[in-house]
Amino acid sequence: LTAQLPDGFSFSKDDEAKIHKSGEKYQFETEVNKLMKIIINSLYKTKEIFLRELISNASDAIDKIRFLSLTDKSALESNPDLKISIVADKEKKTLTIADTGVGMTKKHLKENLGTIAKSGTSEFLSSLENNKTADTSNLIGQFGVGFYSVFLVGDRVTVITKHNDDKQYIWESTSESDFSIIEDPRGNTLGRGTQIIIHLKDDELEFLETDRLSGLVKKYSEFINFPIYLWTTRT
Ligand code: ADP
Ligand code: MG
Repeated sequence: LTAQLPDGFSFSKDDEAKIHKSGEKYQFETEVNKLMKIIINSLYKTKEIFLRELISNASDAIDKIRFLSLTDKSALESNPDLKISIVADKEKKTLTIADTGVGMTKKHLKENLGTIAKSGTSEFLSSLENNKTADTSNLIGQFGVGFYSVFLVGDRVTVITKHNDDKQYIWESTSESDFSIIEDPRGNTLGRGTQIIIHLKDDELEFLETDRLSGLVKKYSEFINFPIYLWTTRT
């Protein structure tokens, strides 16, 4: 634990303004939208699981680049330091989960985070409809909620990502119906990997508290094979 934030975790005001004005807009696919609503309406008692989902995605992404590097050693050169960093910024009210995994191309971003529902989504949605009495949280647990659980605690989510085969992009969503993608005006700041910046809702600021956060990170990092660093601001 340290009181100082690492480099590369902030935007200038100018950059933020550019991102909001000029991103290409996309609508979430209908099933994705339905799924997000179900997650938000059913998991309000266990909001903390968003962190489990993001840590597991970060770990999957590092597994992927490590696997690629077995046949292509140069794949790691863009960022050889395989790790997960979690940064709590009380001033900005943001929680950032960063990894030096495989990253996403613009196409991956658009498909994985919004326009192509992950496999099993339609089966999941119809089993919810057909089992009105069944335990929703149990069904959700079996399905695996994934990335969209960030909206349990965030009202704006920014994803910055750099894949070896593409430029660095920024994905952002402030609502449950659409998202935007823009090339990062700062260029490549990550080398390779993904940063998920969660702008926390005003009543979810507990996730910035060092004790709360480190407890959750311990709980959800038990089976993670990469180092996880936690940074919190002093104030
Ligand atoms: P799942 O992990 O079950 O596939 P998620 O909703 O958690 O579903 O994530 C959807 C997809 O988004 C992932 O399969 C992956 O392709 C992509 N993704 C999410 N987070 C990351 C990340 N940190 N790095 C790279 N890709 C990611
Ligand atoms: Mg996942």
